[in-house]
Amino acid sequence: MEIPFHRPYIGKDEEKEVIDSLRKGWLTMGKKTVEFERKFGNYIGAKNAIAVSSCTAALHLALRCIGLKEGDEVLVPAVTFVATAEVVGYFGARPVLVDVERNTHLIDINDLEKKITERTKAIIPVHYSGQPADMDEIIEIAKSYNLYVIEDAAHALPSWYKGRKVGTIGDLTAFSFYATKTLATGEGGMVTTENNEWAERIRVLRLHGISKDAWKRYTKEGSWEYDVLENGYKYNMTDINAALGLAQLRKVEWMWKERERVASMYNEAFREYEELIPYRVKSDRISSWHLYPLKLNLESLKINRNQFIEELKRRGIGTSVHFIPLYRFSYYKNIGHGAVDFPKSEWVFERVVSLPIFPGMRKEEVEYIIENIIDIVEKNRR
Ligand SMILES: *Cc1c(COP(=O)(O)O)cnc(C)c1O
Repeated sequence: MEIPFHRPYIGKDEEKEVIDSLRKGWLTMGKKTVEFERKFGNYIGAKNAIAVSSCTAALHLALRCIGLKEGDEVLVPAVTFVATAEVVGYFGARPVLVDVERNTHLIDINDLEKKITERTKAIIPVHYSGQPADMDEIIEIAKSYNLYVIEDAAHALPSWYKGRKVGTIGDLTAFSFYATKTLATGEGGMVTTENNEWAERIRVLRLHGISKDAWKRYTKEGSWEYDVLENGYKYNMTDINAALGLAQLRKVEWMWKERERVASMYNEAFREYEELIPYRVKSDRISSWHLYPLKLNLESLKINRNQFIEELKRRGIGTSVHFIPLYRFSYYKNIGHGAVDFPKSEWVFERVVSLPIFPGMRKEEVEYIIENIIDIVEKNRR
């Protein structure tokens, strides 16, 4: 059997919406983007939802809103995708890496507080794999040090923190619709915020700083005349991407239940093996299960994580690693980050492997993966 790490769930609905866009002859940002924003905002329960070209763009614009400046510092987990920290660098500000918890891979609250200085301006917690970070604690710390909280919710659609859907908890939230994420438009992202002024500013900044509803300038209602309010970006979504988004949004909860089904099969199967360390989700939150991160108990195995991945590959099973900690990259080493400061992130990185988890995964596929993992474990016991 061949099982890829990810298979996007794209069907007739998506085809119909995209063809509708093509037939209408409106290819870039227009009515479908506006409709996608409205429906996404309603689904989250957020006052404002602004569609952009990626989650990276969403994070960048969120940092523009809070007025990040050169020399400022922003706290980010050491275990995340590079985009979370990269956007801080756009401002000449410094991403300050924070260790993560061993069981959840979420930003570690104790280490977080230790890393605050008088230059710290914001925290970007990452809802790793779809599990919301410790938002109550993070917001309490942010309040007492006067920091902004921007949520990297690239994995967190849909996720719930103490009964509340992710997207309205911090100051601004950034979602990703990258090809492998839980709602896929190829490339795309969304900012949600309860702050109307920030929302208005993001609408302007995402399209060259042009005054409100810039996209309408080529419609019947629009006019050729416009003003440029500030130096902006080309960060708008297109209607073709939004068409995919509209179709995907209709089944976003169904897709979540599909991943949850896969996750519980894995959890059930791996529970009794001391060689395997299941990923822990805290009891007051619900994960989107964007990822299924499994850790190896290296102390009871003769093989390491890389050999484990090779063994799975040989058996036709695709996997990935989320993530290579940022301090391991040349660029972050060069700007003074080192592994010695992150014992828990290192511990996680040496052990973690992400298993396939996506909607439409057949029961036999999940069973094939489970059987093979158990076989590898049994053949490589210490
Ligand atoms: C995918 C991802 C991003 C970036 O999303 P894009 O839409 O590709 O810009 C940011 N943060 C995390 C944690 C991610 O996994």
